[in-house]
Amino acid sequence: MIPRRKTHQVRIGQVAVGSDAPVMVQSMTNTDTADVAASVAQVKELADAGSEVVRLTVNNEASAAAIPQIVEQLAAKGCHVPLVGDFHYNGHRLLADYPEMAAALAKYRINPGNVGFGAKHDRQFSEMIEQAIRYDKPVRIGVNWGSLDPSVLARLMDDNATRDVPLTAEEVGREALIISALESAEMAESIGLPSDRIILSCKVSKVQELVAVYRELAKRCQYPLHLGLTEAGMGSKGIVSSTAALSVLLQEGIGDTIRISLTPRPGESRTEEVIVAQEILQTMGLRSFVPMVVACPGCGRTTSTFFQELAEDIQTYLRHQMPVWKQSYEGVEDMTVAVMGCIVNGPGESRHANIGISLPGTGETPAAPVFEDGKKTVTLRGDTIAQDFTALVDAYVARSYRKKEQKDAA
Ligand code: SF4
Repeated sequence: MIPRRKTHQVRIGQVAVGSDAPVMVQSMTNTDTADVAASVAQVKELADAGSEVVRLTVNNEASAAAIPQIVEQLAAKGCHVPLVGDFHYNGHRLLADYPEMAAALAKYRINPGNVGFGAKHDRQFSEMIEQAIRYDKPVRIGVNWGSLDPSVLARLMDDNATRDVPLTAEEVGREALIISALESAEMAESIGLPSDRIILSCKVSKVQELVAVYRELAKRCQYPLHLGLTEAGMGSKGIVSSTAALSVLLQEGIGDTIRISLTPRPGESRTEEVIVAQEILQTMGLRSFVPMVVACPGCGRTTSTFFQELAEDIQTYLRHQMPVWKQSYEGVEDMTVAVMGCIVNGPGESRHANIGISLPGTGETPAAPVFEDGKKTVTLRGDTIAQDFTALVDAYVARSYRKKEQKDAA
């Protein structure tokens, strides 16, 4: 097990973050928050996919007024996922003017670079922290390179000019992000917000910058840290860059909650960011969410698409079954299922999985041996291999994982 950095523990509704709590997965909606029906539908979709906290922008009066309705309608659907309000520029006013919204949210995200400038900055920041204290809510002080407080950067640039050996512009920028987060947390505590109500983040869009910033931030405080590569981008670029950055930090025990900031393609589900976050944590052995499919890449020995289709169908099936299985079978999320393309590595890899199938490659006998717990149990043939294997996976789950009611009765 990877040793985790010691932190305070913060509660967001019923969800614990930091210290020895599991690294938490969160996401953010892209609906107009004021559109209650669309926001409820997307929050529910994200929560059903496994998001343990969902953030919504609260950017105007209509969205502030919508929050209590969203919470109420989600509860009517049996969805109690904690909601986080994302505030910029006018959060101090919205939190004061919409007390039901302030009470309904489970956490406030405050960006210290976007709370006003000059004398207004401290006053408006303080007003938001006072609301968090009044409603007993935790706060994430979320600094972002794209909206870094210019007064902090200017001050550090001036200090740097007086140094014998000045830091590079990148080093000053990194330090400014960290200082903005730490000084804001210090101010929040001085106003009266307890240290175990504060989470920090310092998001940038470059992998090496993110790693350097968080390593330093982790050394200087005991607040839980929210990790995310901001503006990660679309498709494989967004997934790869987020995974590269977060894996390094998580491997060092840094990071208590994560979000993958993917840009969905038009019409694409928002849930991909949740699935990627879960897969990062599960492939690193930090948490288990859904049984994993081990599949070979295929090669010239697999001339049909049957093998690829079966691997995809099984993966989709496992994810769809998980909400049902989770209610009944303990530990099923740790199961591995192998779907292999030919005899070269198929039987070996299938033996290592809980259950695996080795499909016939080109020129091999049209038979697919199935292995369960390391032993060959049956050989499938004919046109119904996919359905037969799915039925075997179902039977394996029912037989191999302890029923929750049995545990409850014990
Ligand atoms: S298991 Fe067979 S089909 Fe799959 S990659 Fe290896 S050689 Fe190719």
